[in-house]
Amino acid sequence: MKREIPKNYDPQEVEDRLYKLWERSGFFNPDNLPGDRTKKFVAAIAPPNITGELHIGHALENTLEDIIIRMKRMQGYKTLYLPGTDHAGIAAQNKVEKQLSKEGLSRHDLGREKFLERMLQWKEKYGGIILNQFKKLGLSLDWSRLAFTMDPGYQKAVELAFTKYRENGWIYQGERVINWCIRCATSISDLEVKYEPEKTKLYYITYGPFTLATVRPETKLGDTALAVNPDDARYQNYIGKDLEIESVDNSISSDQPVKKKTITIKVVADEAVDQEFGTGIIKVTPAHDLVDFEISQKHQLPLIKIIDEHGKMNENAGIRYQGLRTTQAREQIVKDLQELGLIEKIEDYEHNIGKCDRCDSVIEPLPSTQWFLKMKDLAQLALEALDKKEVQLNADRWENGLRNWLHNLRDWNISRQLWWGHKIPIEGVDDVLDTWFSSALWPFAVMGWPEETKDFKDYYPTNFITSDRGILFLWHARMIFSGKFFTGKSPFEKIYIHATVLTKDGKRMSKSLGTGIDPLIMIKKYGADALRFGLAYQVTELQDMRFGEDAILMGKKFVNKLWNISRYILMNTSDEISDRIPEDFKIENEETKDLLNKLDSIVKSTTKNIENYEFGRAAHALYDFMWHDLADTYIEFSKGKNSEDTRIALEYTLCTILKLLHPFIPFVTEEIYQQLPLKKKVSIMIEDWPA
Ligand SMILES: [Zn+2]
Repeated sequence: MKREIPKNYDPQEVEDRLYKLWERSGFFNPDNLPGDRTKKFVAAIAPPNITGELHIGHALENTLEDIIIRMKRMQGYKTLYLPGTDHAGIAAQNKVEKQLSKEGLSRHDLGREKFLERMLQWKEKYGGIILNQFKKLGLSLDWSRLAFTMDPGYQKAVELAFTKYRENGWIYQGERVINWCIRCATSISDLEVKYEPEKTKLYYITYGPFTLATVRPETKLGDTALAVNPDDARYQNYIGKDLEIESVDNSISSDQPVKKKTITIKVVADEAVDQEFGTGIIKVTPAHDLVDFEISQKHQLPLIKIIDEHGKMNENAGIRYQGLRTTQAREQIVKDLQELGLIEKIEDYEHNIGKCDRCDSVIEPLPSTQWFLKMKDLAQLALEALDKKEVQLNADRWENGLRNWLHNLRDWNISRQLWWGHKIPIEGVDDVLDTWFSSALWPFAVMGWPEETKDFKDYYPTNFITSDRGILFLWHARMIFSGKFFTGKSPFEKIYIHATVLTKDGKRMSKSLGTGIDPLIMIKKYGADALRFGLAYQVTELQDMRFGEDAILMGKKFVNKLWNISRYILMNTSDEISDRIPEDFKIENEETKDLLNKLDSIVKSTTKNIENYEFGRAAHALYDFMWHDLADTYIEFSKGKNSEDTRIALEYTLCTILKLLHPFIPFVTEEIYQQLPLKKKVSIMIEDWPA
């Protein structure tokens, strides 16, 4: 019998229709899956920020997750892929503050309550955008379990977590030098500081018998010591001594001529000092440098705060500099020191400067009273989980990086001077928690913890999680110790760190630089399957991925080829086909034998490759099999044969290859599957995985 399916495959027409069909089927929800499923397979999506939109990194990450999830579902696992969003503290608050500033308002004009109302409105309006984009990508997420990091249940989890830490004596308040963003008016974590090269000046200042190089001469006013390396032979005679040195008299106002004054400063020895940098001797400004602060702690040096939270010099800088911005103070003090003959030389200099990851402002390290979580025991828990292989990473270098970070962990500054977020559950405290504090609870908070819910019992711990290397410390490390501490288990077995997507010539993808590839535009142009296949085809485990539009075009050609092959086979099938080879099947041709052998080996290798996270390898092998072994070789051979042997082999091969390709290109495989004259069919999504 001849059957006719449309000549051309039109993803636009097919994709939205099929996604709705899948949603209606209920099979994204593991509790609805047919059959007797005894094993589970679970992944919680990395919750995108409510400020987010789909970028190529998401498209890659979620495609890879969906590939495993779809295979496991077909293998008979109770499969849960759980969606959600993150409230994204500082990032989201910045968005709304920007919106307000266009109206000429600040959050303080609105007050806390009104501002939080605005935040919620914003979340309602924009928070769901990226989730709809995930549907466009074809992700088989269980929408009935959609989670948000500020859901009432989630808030309970956060409060309990904080309280438990506190009961253990791990939460304390302390004055520490922290990274402060002047614009965001909040402390931010070390991990939220990005370092960018900056062209500046290096000033060589006379300090008594020494010359010191610094890029920030204005911080001289907060110096409380000089430091040298204990092994530095040049300075042995000075270690531990007090020196009298000439400096600038900051008690004279700036409309008066500058004068010298003598100050006393101590020389300490500390291993943190690099003998090779400059003259091998540094000034120590404990209040405004994170390294200097640590030196000061070891040597009990005083801390003089000279810069305030607005980035201006305060009263401790003396009347001559008080009220100036740091950059103005720098100009003034350089001029003063030059007049006093205390500057030896000034050189051009390039170095890395810390900037706020959210707003690009230069970070000002400041002493500030914040809440901290002690890391010693928690880091140990995470290290133990790695030692016992309760959690494994896909490459040693990621594991080594993680271990190294855990070994050198400072206490976690968990308080933020923001309004949007989880309020610190202590009477009289206005600060909110660092957004990563709540994200760290994600894999079990979404399962209903601290309640002993059915989901928590059935689906926790999860099996795997993926992301690029950027949030390994920020997020994964913290999920591991949180999971171990609160549930006694690692929250996932496997962390798969995927390649970072770069442009074809190896540049960072960026919307503002015009080097990005917008996944939604690509889906519109080529279809979601083409994008998914193009991404999976390019990915290798250990290298960054150089990705161009031509890969997606290749994906589209592949999808069309599959369509045409299927169309050809279906036009020549019998009324009913089987996805099994008949038991009495006698192979007549060597060519058929060869094809079925190759098919058998592609079945085995695809399963193994996906299980080993070798997505690119799996996609390449499937591509070669379909294009060369099936189309170029066997179909050409079969033409005009009109034999039972080739017909059955083609029908069986088509059914099998559709199933193997389904995790990669779910839409077109479902569309073709629905045209197959199979005896029983519901959805290819729940077909048995070939074995
Ligand atoms: Zn900022």
